[in-house]
Amino acid sequence: MNIILLGPPGAGKGTQARRLVDGRGMVQLSTGDMLREARTSGTEMGRVVADVMDRGDLVTDEIVIGLIREKLEAAPEKSYIFDGFPRTLKQADALGDLLAEFGQKLDVALELRVNDEALVERIVGRAREAVAAGGEARADDNEESLKTRLLAYYKMTSPLVGYYYAKGLYARTDGLASIEEVSKGVREKLGL
Ligand code: AMP
Repeated sequence: MNIILLGPPGAGKGTQARRLVDGRGMVQLSTGDMLREARTSGTEMGRVVADVMDRGDLVTDEIVIGLIREKLEAAPEKSYIFDGFPRTLKQADALGDLLAEFGQKLDVALELRVNDEALVERIVGRAREAVAAGGEARADDNEESLKTRLLAYYKMTSPLVGYYYAKGLYARTDGLASIEEVSKGVREKLGL
């Protein structure tokens, strides 16, 4: 089974993806995590994308499609949860092509529905919690970058809702409830 979790920044895609992974043997593919890893390990690509990420803009399609290709190529038979990918129509087409190339297909694109005010509170809260716990907030968890990320979502990513609807692969569930309740909704929609 291959699943996309769709939704704006702060919708809970990462949290829900991790819960699906636990105990199911599925693999979470988060391009955001891969890019952050590339930054901390000081790779050339990490240096190239650092400023773009901190601003809240999208990195190029070529870079993220390349990251996903590497993962799929290494283990095409696994079940994947795509979290934060695809974010553009070009990425969505590329994912369809890649899966087909490896004899796989997408089963569902599940949108976590939230409203924008709740999102801003969640993200600002996430940054405060990280600092309170003695850590550091994500460099892009600040209000300026958040606005850019939301705008990028509405300009570039939200058309994917119609794209997957037209392909008969779209489903949605409430992303505003408690983590437990959202999880339940996710499992129901996925028939898990
Ligand atoms: P995320 O952790 O998914 O919120 O991603 C953090 C940042 O990484 C985003 O704001 C983008 O700058 C970049 N990023 C992650 N995934 C993608 C993607 N699929 N396409 C373009 N940029 C991405």
